[in-house]
Amino acid sequence: MSRSSTIVRGIAVMATSAALAGCATGGSRPSSTAAGPPTYEEAQAAAEKAAQAARERSRGMTFEQFEAATYKEPFPGGKYIVNGDTPIVDSKHLREFFEKQVQQEPAPVAGSLIVNQVGGLDTIWNSTEKYTLTYCVSTEFGPHHDQVVTDIAAATQAWEQVADVRYTHVEAQDASCTASNQNVVFDVRPVDVGGQYLARAFFPNEPRSTRNVLIDKTSFELNPGDKLQLTGILRHELGHTIGFRHEHTRPESGTCFEDNNWRPLTDYDPFSVMHYPQCNGTQTGDLVITSSDATGASSLYGAPGGGGGGGGGAPCTGCTLYSG
Ligand SMILES: [Zn+2]
Repeated sequence: MSRSSTIVRGIAVMATSAALAGCATGGSRPSSTAAGPPTYEEAQAAAEKAAQAARERSRGMTFEQFEAATYKEPFPGGKYIVNGDTPIVDSKHLREFFEKQVQQEPAPVAGSLIVNQVGGLDTIWNSTEKYTLTYCVSTEFGPHHDQVVTDIAAATQAWEQVADVRYTHVEAQDASCTASNQNVVFDVRPVDVGGQYLARAFFPNEPRSTRNVLIDKTSFELNPGDKLQLTGILRHELGHTIGFRHEHTRPESGTCFEDNNWRPLTDYDPFSVMHYPQCNGTQTGDLVITSSDATGASSLYGAPGGGGGGGGGAPCTGCTLYSG
């Protein structure tokens, strides 16, 4: 991890999956001292101070400096990563992000679950698409393939139990599970990004080529005793795949603000599966879906099993911020 990438991840306002990894190891949390862990107020003050300092540093940057300092996945088709685990497809869209979200730093709006918006429209699956969320799990996971299949199945079931959505693993595509495989909605593949993030996903408005759930090899190095495990990581990432943003971008978190391109579905929930623990979140174990998350998800897609409500939104067209 370079110093410059640390700065940018500060612009993402400390909301990084790498920080999630750090959280699992204790590395990115406000440091504990011999006198004991910091109080909530101390941690909040430290986080706000660090975030503000990062914003001030970034404000003096040119776009070229910002781009050079932003982590980019080191493989063909690799994306820029902002806000911890949010991919931006190319330099043009990164410039948009820089101009709208870094230089201008929009003020937080008052607002547990929040849905991503582009151009003021929710980016969610429509009433047909939400039942056909097919995916493959690359055989390139090798000895970890079975674990990923099991853990992602558990994560998809967790969302299916709270909202009227349906994921399907298409095993027949596992051996050809690439970003260009048109037989599935998204692919799940291994990457080696050196712990820059544990995993990253996509939003529903994105084109097939960028609808990937990528899992870094460091996700397989978590100790069984760590609080965060792959299943919880995937519950969080799959939340993005049905349109949910980081809960900690809401002003109530007091830190980790990202942008205002979302609308609230529930009251602020510091326990939310979409809330990074190190951003003043309050989940103390593996990331799980809360009752507030369940309420938000069902308000958007309907209750599980076709309980009506929600699900009528069309995927946005002409999206520019995250899509290619
Ligand atoms: Zn995330």
